[in-house]
Amino acid sequence: MSAPTSLASRYPEAYLIDSMECTDIGSGQTMISLANTYSGLPGRFYAHVQPTAVSEPRMLAFNRPLALELGLDADALDSPEGAALLAGNAVPEGITPIAMAYAGHQFGGFVPQLGDGRAILLGEALDGDGRRRDIQLKGAGRTPYSRGGDGRAAIGPVLREYLVSEAMHALGIATTRALAAVATGDMVYRDTALPGAVLTRVAASHIRVGTFQFFAARGDEDGLRQLADYAIDRLYPELSERDNRYLGLLEAVAGRQARLVARWMHVGFIHGVMNTDNSSISGETIDFGPCAFMDAYDPATVFSSIDRGGRYQYQNQPGIAQWNLARFAETLLPLIDGDSEAATEKANGAVVDFARRFQDAWLAGLRRKIGLAGAEDEDGALVQGLLDLMQSDAVDWTGAFRRLGDCARGNDTPFRSLFGDRAAADRWLTSWRDRLSRDPDGAPDRAARMDRENPLYIPRNHLVEEALAAAIAGELGPFDTLLSVLADPCADQGPERRRYAEPAPRDGRIYKTFCGT
Ligand code: AMP
Ligand code: MG
Repeated sequence: MSAPTSLASRYPEAYLIDSMECTDIGSGQTMISLANTYSGLPGRFYAHVQPTAVSEPRMLAFNRPLALELGLDADALDSPEGAALLAGNAVPEGITPIAMAYAGHQFGGFVPQLGDGRAILLGEALDGDGRRRDIQLKGAGRTPYSRGGDGRAAIGPVLREYLVSEAMHALGIATTRALAAVATGDMVYRDTALPGAVLTRVAASHIRVGTFQFFAARGDEDGLRQLADYAIDRLYPELSERDNRYLGLLEAVAGRQARLVARWMHVGFIHGVMNTDNSSISGETIDFGPCAFMDAYDPATVFSSIDRGGRYQYQNQPGIAQWNLARFAETLLPLIDGDSEAATEKANGAVVDFARRFQDAWLAGLRRKIGLAGAEDEDGALVQGLLDLMQSDAVDWTGAFRRLGDCARGNDTPFRSLFGDRAAADRWLTSWRDRLSRDPDGAPDRAARMDRENPLYIPRNHLVEEALAAAIAGELGPFDTLLSVLADPCADQGPERRRYAEPAPRDGRIYKTFCGT
């Protein structure tokens, strides 16, 4: 690693951030009061920045239950004044907005200087459990880290992140949340002109693997230590008493990431851009760009138009999470042990152990999905048998598991009808029932438990597109309806909502997602 001085000359922009101009749009409101402990860290961690005002803020969506959970004044925020505040047109007194500095590996290539190019951290609210939660405006204007970008976001990607992050939350998956989406009244220019919007995002923190890489790349060990101490205090306070707290941090992040990616795999979620700057130290799903849910089961599924090599395809996600963890581990080496060989050995242990943690979490979830309460050695093979059948018949991931719940009720027809090779499906059902007979603890309420593990409603691509297209055209009804369907993904919401449970017609399945920048 090079000394900070030589890095300063290689990446001079990292040291110039405070000299860049940002628009000051005034202040004075008291609708929201937030701390900002991150801005207590040294100046090189962030840049002070003000959001850039927009023409005509208009609330598109407001998450009242989340506002209440955060102890915010929901009535005051869900108003034209609230929309202006959440669009960045007014920064309340006492709030010190910042853009965070970070680096990151993007599609495997290291970029030493990224940072919040269009996101501005307003500060932190304390939720009902006393946890500090970041409140960030995404798309609120340029920052010193914007590079060539406009600092803005279009309505489509903003509402997409709103919808999918809230769906993930309802599925019980750790994720950043969406507090509000506000239309700006201004156009943003991508391939075409699109109406703009600002998303208010809520996170346990926005510290990323890339945040650690920012300091490691500059040989800034002091910065690394302060960042690690901050992350431990805020996200893993139980580690503060441990003797090697930095190794503890690595292990704790490994555990959360392993569980997170296992949960993604269970519901067929494909993040799409698992760059290290999109990998959160809190273990939350973050940065919903070209993400999408898989319909027909194919482990090689990739939706993102920018992922041409399929680096972030469905089946690669656990391996990529481990790769990202290795990059995180590298940054911590000087903190873990003064002796670099010893540090590498300890860190390596945690990185290697990720595979076991992931496999355990993945298989435990699949056992639950097929209705097992206990564990036998052969369960992995039983599960794999089902996955092989699903893959060879391109069966809908979500639908197959849900219909297996019908089999547990004694009705095999809906499940069998998904498969071209019915005899093979029957053979698998026989082996499954044989296994169930040795799982007495799983017998009571098995079907009901399976329904709670296997959602009926996920943000299916054609439904998301339909809702976003309508919203862009000014009609929010389909977005609101889809959001309300996804808020309760496992309960059957009746025949009038049947279409929300169905996959796209086969010819509607060829689907591409775009980065959303
Ligand atoms: P993402 O691919 O969205 O995770 O973003 C990668 C990097 O590009 C981050 O540093 C973002 O802040 C930055 N970025 C993305 N879109 C924009 C934009 N429209 N304006 C400025 N910076 C952006
Ligand atoms: Mg990102």
